[in-house]
Amino acid sequence: MHQRFLDLLRCPICHGTLELGDAVREDEEIVSGTLACAACGAAYPIREGIPYLLVEE
Ligand SMILES: [Zn+2]
Repeated sequence: MHQRFLDLLRCPICHGTLELGDAVREDEEIVSGTLACAACGAAYPIREGIPYLLVEE
């Protein structure tokens, strides 16, 4: 996903902002990493350029 999408993504649980960690980048594309919610602490993976903002049940 493009780095710019980071600003648009919000935590699906609390709608807080997400912070990128452990990022692997190719130019401005984020290939993999972790998105952590600053507000509630939930973490979501990015794999093969796709952010998985899934709520675990
Ligand atoms: Zn959250």
